[in-house]
Amino acid sequence: MADKLAITERDVLLVVDVQNDFCPGGALAVPGGDQVVGPINRLARTFRHVVLTQDWHPPGHLSFASSHPGRLPMETITAPYGPQILWPDHCVQGSEGADFHPDLDIPHAELVLRKGYNREIDSYSAFFENDHRTPTGLAGYLRERGLGRVFLAGLAFDFCVRYSAEDARLDAFDAVMVEDACRGIDLGGSVAETRARLEELAIPCIGSDRIV
Ligand SMILES: [Zn+2]
Repeated sequence: MADKLAITERDVLLVVDVQNDFCPGGALAVPGGDQVVGPINRLARTFRHVVLTQDWHPPGHLSFASSHPGRLPMETITAPYGPQILWPDHCVQGSEGADFHPDLDIPHAELVLRKGYNREIDSYSAFFENDHRTPTGLAGYLRERGLGRVFLAGLAFDFCVRYSAEDARLDAFDAVMVEDACRGIDLGGSVAETRARLEELAIPCIGSDRIV
């Protein structure tokens, strides 16, 4: 049986984008997306420090297929910062779809970090926007608070959770993926690609039953 991981004061649980639009019935539903809510609520009770991210786009956001006449969701365009997948309109600021799932129950979360609010840049990662240059401020926040190990959960495993984990690791934080508290979109092999990249970066993927 795998070793248990004891949560300490320097650990933070980063709950990525558990919002209505990423759950069944939402505009960009991740299969089984709502199934992360129970495991995340349980997991959060083990952590003193929890940060939530919230995808938060203005209408007409560059990542929306509807902003590019003739283009369809899941097509890729070349944005000034590189390739960008086009998505259905989702998580529009102030909309019900942008709200957290109603059963998400983490009253002690210390920070809600909104991302994707720049109309011209998408932001998968909680640390950097998709130009890989514009920081969200999260790294500074975690450092100032002495939080050095980031446990990641949420939606989607192969996009926002993945890139958040990568950037955490590349920015010298320890990163741990809590796999049963994530669900993926799996677009063109993106889940397998994510696993390979996590392995390359030595980011462990663990079950929440190992966390005590
Ligand atoms: Zn988005």
